[in-house]
Amino acid sequence: MTQHEFKAEVQQLLDIVIHSLYSDREIFLRELLSNAADALDKAHFMGLTRTDLVGLAGDEPGIRIELDEEGKRLIIDDDGVGMTEAEAIENLGTIAHSGSKTFLKQLAESKGDAPSLIGQFGVGFYASYMVADEVTVESRSVEPDAKPILWRSRGDGTYAIEEGSRAQRGTRITLHFREDAEEYLAEHRLRAIVRKHSNFLPWPVMMEDSRLNEGEALWAKAPSEVSEEDANAFYKNIATDWQDPAFRVHAKVDSPLQYSAMLFIPSARPYDLFYPETEAGVRLYARRVLIMEQAKDIFPKWLRFVKGVVDSEDLQVNLSREMVQKTPVVRKIREALIKRLLKDLARLETREVEEGAEGPTPAERYAEIWSNFGMLIKEGYYHDKASYGELLLPLMRFNAVSHPDSDGLISLAAYKEAMKEGQDTIWYLTAPSRAEALSSPHLEAFKSKGWDVLLLTDPVDEWLVQALTEFEDIPLKSVSRGELDLEDSEDDASKADLTGLTPWMSEQLSGAVAGVRGSSRLTDSACVLVDDEDGISGNMERILRAANQDVPTAQRYLEVNPKHPLIQSMVKLHESGQTEALRPLAQLLLDDAMLMDGNVSEPAAIGRRLQSLLQEAAANALR
Ligand code: ADP
Ligand code: MG
Repeated sequence: MTQHEFKAEVQQLLDIVIHSLYSDREIFLRELLSNAADALDKAHFMGLTRTDLVGLAGDEPGIRIELDEEGKRLIIDDDGVGMTEAEAIENLGTIAHSGSKTFLKQLAESKGDAPSLIGQFGVGFYASYMVADEVTVESRSVEPDAKPILWRSRGDGTYAIEEGSRAQRGTRITLHFREDAEEYLAEHRLRAIVRKHSNFLPWPVMMEDSRLNEGEALWAKAPSEVSEEDANAFYKNIATDWQDPAFRVHAKVDSPLQYSAMLFIPSARPYDLFYPETEAGVRLYARRVLIMEQAKDIFPKWLRFVKGVVDSEDLQVNLSREMVQKTPVVRKIREALIKRLLKDLARLETREVEEGAEGPTPAERYAEIWSNFGMLIKEGYYHDKASYGELLLPLMRFNAVSHPDSDGLISLAAYKEAMKEGQDTIWYLTAPSRAEALSSPHLEAFKSKGWDVLLLTDPVDEWLVQALTEFEDIPLKSVSRGELDLEDSEDDASKADLTGLTPWMSEQLSGAVAGVRGSSRLTDSACVLVDDEDGISGNMERILRAANQDVPTAQRYLEVNPKHPLIQSMVKLHESGQTEALRPLAQLLLDDAMLMDGNVSEPAAIGRRLQSLLQEAAANALR
């Protein structure tokens, strides 16, 4: 027998599990059964190509639960791949695997609530220590020359491994129950737990010759035969989520290809949505047999928030990972499913409210989905406009000037519907926040005309607008970009003649701006910075800088308002040749435009220029 120490993080996890006051301790069984089912899947998969594997005891592979009330023990025995000594050390003595790792990571990040996190993520094998004070694992690997092992630990820092005596393949886990967990040592209780958490495991879970789980692949049933309750339970199982999903699509198709799928959108944004290593949440089955657990090649990356299963009669069970993406069958199923999902999602908002229905309305549900996953829909438009653009457009929602509160969002169709006479463009402004957008001088002329402007405040919007250039033949344009002609031809009289001032200013400020010109965008402000027609926008520059990317400062235009008293005074100074007085004003005007833009590269230099201006103003006042 050899004695080993758990890796530090395993012991940390065990201490949390053992001392946690988590009330739903019954999930230990879900964790152990799903490990057993995974092991059965793996053995089945290996058996497709090999004939030399260690055999099983009975004739049908499965999972058996044995209850020993007197000995206060629960035993879970499976016909899976089993573990060699090295595998047991690696798999049970270190945290190399998914569930527990995310648990610890999340616990560190949230500084917090271990019990509720245990429920959300499960802590895998170690969950057994919520109910047991000693666990033994007898296992024999399917590999013919591996020795059986017996692993044993009280969860107190060490574990022991010795040679075991199991003859057939698989794993037998014995839990010796803690006194405070004896409530689970009752047959009816165990039956209920299996039904609740593990009903759709594709392998039989047996207890005393009766099968506890239904096991029928829910997705293969006719959609009308699947209750919402069952679908939700199934979702919670595969997605390890504890909340009901926000949306579900159940497709069962017989021609030209035969496949079925159940896809779900979670009701909250998973914490790991933006971790680079996050994989797609769709499992791929071929004729009910799991062939890929995280089938990242089925759905594009932007659909990684969708969870579910895809199963096809037209796929080979021994399809290799490398082949999945190249298989035309998979490509066709993917396309059809994505289209179905996007179409159904677009219809959600207009779904009729069932009589007596409680909870959020369909419109509220869609708004929630958009707020959780809209950025990924936008990402999808950027990457896959050619394939799915038409289906993605109706899903888009944006903040807009016309909406008084920050939650009110409008669709492109609603914007189009509300366009004013004479308006032929969908206008938008990209900015870091709604508040900053609303105070932007770029909106002045639009406000006075009563034209609505979409406020795009999500960083991904800068990428979106590169692809989203028109909606139903109406162009989308940025209010902060290029030359605009928004003039209402009246009141020319109140405008200063800029023909002398702006070329002079362009020369003074050359290097800092691409040029200085008169503006028709402004009503109240004296000046504004404008993006070049095709250069990178100021907002994009800010986003890239924040992501530590090296970006050259884009050359932008300084536009001045010919109706503003300050500009009119400057014109007079220029006309009377007082360029000495004018020079610092030109520089400060640019400083001012940069400040209003929120994009200041040399704040100290601006500060000093302001100080000398103030000094002069103070001296003037004393005179
Ligand atoms: P996860 O299932 O997320 O990998 P667990 O803590 O549940 O994490 O399990 C750790 C590892 O131990 C599994 O990945 C698997 O390799 C191994 N394991 C656990 N239970 C079994 C079992 N019944 N048969 C074979 N291997 C198992
Ligand atoms: Mg597990």
